[in-house]
Order: sequence, then C-alpha cells, then structure tokens
Amino acid sequence: MGGVFLSTQPAFAQESSFFERIVPLHQVKKNPGPMDWLATQKEDGQSFSDFTASQAIVPSRDKSFIYIVLLGDFTSEQKRVVQMASRYIAAYFQMSVKFAEPIALSRIPESARRIHPVTADAQILSTYVLDDVLKPQMPSDAFCLIAFTPSDLWPGQGWNFVFGQASIEDRVGVWSLYRNGDISKDFHLFLRRTIQTGTHEIGHLFGLHHCIYYECNMNGSNSRHESDVRPLWVCPVCLRKLAWANKMDIKKRYRQLADISKEFGFDQEAKFFADSLAVLEEKQGAE
Ligand SMILES: [Zn+2]
Ligand SMILES: [Zn+2]
Repeated sequence: MGGVFLSTQPAFAQESSFFERIVPLHQVKKNPGPMDWLATQKEDGQSFSDFTASQAIVPSRDKSFIYIVLLGDFTSEQKRVVQMASRYIAAYFQMSVKFAEPIALSRIPESARRIHPVTADAQILSTYVLDDVLKPQMPSDAFCLIAFTPSDLWPGQGWNFVFGQASIEDRVGVWSLYRNGDISKDFHLFLRRTIQTGTHEIGHLFGLHHCIYYECNMNGSNSRHESDVRPLWVCPVCLRKLAWANKMDIKKRYRQLADISKEFGFDQEAKFFADSLAVLEEKQGAE
C-alpha cells in the first residue's frame, strides 16, 4: 500500500512519512459485498501522485471561500442542520464558509419541475440548478458554490431521483435534504447524512476521485446503507491530497474536528480525530 504515497512533488511541507504515521488508525478497504460500489463499478483508484498530476483546480488566495446557499423552503430545523454542517465543512477543508443570499423556490420555472409520475414526489431538475441558477451567480472569491435544498432532485429523463449532483469543472453542486430521513425522529442521523454528502461531494470538487485504498469518506457508494456505514473521516491518502490542495495544519484540523464531533454527539468520530491528533503529537523516537 506504500506505493500510493510516493510522489515526486517536493513543494509540500508534509511528506509521506507524516501521513504514514496515521495509517495504523485506518482500516484497509474491506472486500465489497455483491451489491456494493466496488463490486459494480470499475474504479482504478487515484494515488497522491495521480492527484497532483491531474491539475485539479485548487483553492487560491483569490478563490478561497466555500459558499453555501439555501435553495427553497427550509424549516428552522433544516436550517439548523445546514448551519451545523457548514461548521463541520469549514473545519474539514480548513476553509472559511460564507452563506450566499437564499434562493427562493420560485426561481425554478415550471419547465424544471415535475411531479414524479409514480411516487408523486415534487422534484426539481438538478441540471437546471447547476447550469442556470448556480453557475451564473458564482461569487468571484468562491472556490466552490454549493446549494442545499429540502426539495427532491432529479437529473433528467430516465432517472427517478438523485441525492445530489455536482459539476467538477464549474465547481458547483446541489444536494438535497429530502431523503436524509425524518429530522424530528432522528436529528443526529439527518445531520450526519447532510455532513457526509457535503464533505464527500466537496471532496470531488477538490478533484478527489473515489477512494479504493481504505475505509474512507471518499469511498463510492451504491446505496444509503453503504454510505451510512462509511466513516466521516478521510484516509491518509485522501487527506494528503486535501492538504496538498489547500495547504493546511493537519493537527489543527484534527483538533477542530474532534471538538465539533464531540459537540454534535458523533462519539466515534470525536474519538477517531482525538486519537489521530494524539499520534501526530507523539514525540518521534530517536532517528
Ligand atoms: Zn462520490
Ligand atoms: Zn481515501
């Protein structure tokens, strides 16, 4: 597995040895079940050097903010979830999050809406949101612009629904809260799903492909179950990519994520981030 760390890129403060220290905290990707993502999709994997060679667009001094926008009619509880998720996202990517002016559902014309012919869900067309709503209003200082919506989404003919959709090229994305569960019955699960989708998809906007190396938030998933069992954290390979894309203090990141996870009641994650921090703070033995 060591080979995935190899890189010829010297312009990076944290070398592979830094990330190798946290490897023991991670679980190598388990063999997929017959219906799981890796059993049904061909994924070649993306090593660190593949990533740095891919020339993905990364945050810069001029484009340094993650923008979030609320699209449609939110309940106060749903707003609270997005607010909480935005704090997690800020710590996760070590970037500042700004909220853009909310967008009314009336911005979506009839031609980009439908009632699903079988399930009767009211849906909005995700491609319209990306191309006609988000792209034209990308703020000049935005690295990416993502919309959360309580509405159900569908991406066009032949599809029943999508949880969300993103354009990596344009660095815009839209994610629906519609299928995140019953917020009044399980706020925690609803929040976890919102955070997980947000962080996974923003990871894609950073140019990260699906991860095949470890149990990782960047693993692909075929079902709600498969994404629910995925960890919220990223593996050492994906973390190294994020750290390269957006120069960051990994210890500060772990510290912040441990605190937020604890506050949000994500006990397993709080422990994981605290343990990761402890490993990095251990004195290195004599060389
Ligand atoms: Zn994905
Ligand atoms: Zn990974």
